[in-house]
Amino acid sequence: MQPYDKYESVIGLEVHVQLSTLSKAFCGDDASFGGDPNTHVSAISLGHPGTLPRLNKKQLESAVRLGLALNCSINKKNYFDRKNYYYPDLPKGYQITQDNQPVCVGGRLNITTKDRTKVIRIHHIHMEEDAGKSIHDLDTNYSLIDLNRAGVPLLEVVTEPDFRSAEEVDAFMNAMRQLVRYLEISDGNMEQGSMRCDCNISIRKKGETIFNERCEIKNINSMRFARQAIDYEFKRQVELAENGKKVLQQTLNFDPVSGKTSPLREKEEAHDYRYFPEPDLLPIVITDEFIEEIRQSVSPLPWKIHDELIQKYKLSNYDAGLISEEKPIALFYKKLADACDNFKAAANLVINKIRPFLNENQLSMEKFPISISKLLAFIQLIENGKVSNSIAYQRLFPAMIENPEKLPEVLVESLGLIQTDDTGFLEGLISETLKQNPEKVKAYKMGKKGLLGFFMGEVMRASKGKAEPKKTNELLRKMLEN
Ligand code: ADP
Ligand code: MG
Repeated sequence: MQPYDKYESVIGLEVHVQLSTLSKAFCGDDASFGGDPNTHVSAISLGHPGTLPRLNKKQLESAVRLGLALNCSINKKNYFDRKNYYYPDLPKGYQITQDNQPVCVGGRLNITTKDRTKVIRIHHIHMEEDAGKSIHDLDTNYSLIDLNRAGVPLLEVVTEPDFRSAEEVDAFMNAMRQLVRYLEISDGNMEQGSMRCDCNISIRKKGETIFNERCEIKNINSMRFARQAIDYEFKRQVELAENGKKVLQQTLNFDPVSGKTSPLREKEEAHDYRYFPEPDLLPIVITDEFIEEIRQSVSPLPWKIHDELIQKYKLSNYDAGLISEEKPIALFYKKLADACDNFKAAANLVINKIRPFLNENQLSMEKFPISISKLLAFIQLIENGKVSNSIAYQRLFPAMIENPEKLPEVLVESLGLIQTDDTGFLEGLISETLKQNPEKVKAYKMGKKGLLGFFMGEVMRASKGKAEPKKTNELLRKMLEN
């Protein structure tokens, strides 16, 4: 038995969600990603003396929206605190955050790994502001500072130490990303840093319930790195334990190039930051009406849509997963399915044609060129046997994309895609096919009945997909028996 098998990892996350508000948390500066360095700044972002912050209401709304979705209780009275530390990309010398009275407390999120569902408990969610960015690799002699990100609003979601594997962490981050997109509070893009996480990890022998000393891996901005960092750290801690050494509580950095963690600093204590109430911002009192108003905008939630797709629309778990991944696609699907009543046909169209088309062309659902009524006509042409399923998917759909204003009924005619069960036409194709394959005809007559599929394929091809399959099959059998 490997020593690793005796241990399990215990992991808790601190997830930073960057909110997609237009302006920053405490001033009117542009909060969007990118822009030339140091162009989204003003005296407030720069922390000039005498400037005063004021709260962006959107940040509070987003926090409550996320809190309601995660079943947290909402704190009615909110305070901000100053977390004091010096860093070159933090011009004020402190970060405005919530220390001991976070906006949301408790809560949970279900995650699914393979076939298991598990509840991850949320400890709390608090509001804060981001720091700027130090760039160390652009100049050989200097570190550069970009303050565009300084003051951009963040929510920090802190979980209980409920994770036992990197796989569960992965599932949680994916579920969070989907949720913040459904709630339209963040784009959830890890590549652009809109979602980052700190992973707290300790180990213990399987079967134990104690919590051991942990390390905190800072600022992980990709799921691949999270997985690598957790795997590396798990092994490192097991080796220490196996050699009778102690795991020190440390803050670690993960280096994606070497795949290793290394100490950044000894774990700092809360008192090192000298938190104190932010004197420039008044306490915020949230009313019941405010909470109720926000509750209206919390639905639809991704897991509710997923359930609905299975219960009401009778889709498989797999199909429901694909369709509910993104809210606009899920809503579009529901509209289409409700209008045509053939839930499965609508699902096939969305999964096999519409989603891939949007992905390939990097288009959002709103930009999809074909109207619902034309898609209904498309499905009906297949249902009525006017056009075969494969021809509809391979030829008609692309033609509709090219000519979104034209009716599919018209396109089918003009492209000659209409399926035919005309006996004379089909018999002609079949006898031609049989003539070209005398050996196979002989083999069929000797008992190799499996060749029927081959002949069907040949006839279909000769008809350019227009032969109506049932009638063709019937005629083919008859002619082969003669
Ligand atoms: P601090 O206030 O020192 O940052 P917290 O108790 O708030 O510590 O926990 C921070 C994070 O660490 C949370 O996500 C929590 O789940 C996680 N955590 C706490 N104890 C452990 C442990 N023994 N092993 C792994 N993670 C832990
Ligand atoms: Mg912490």
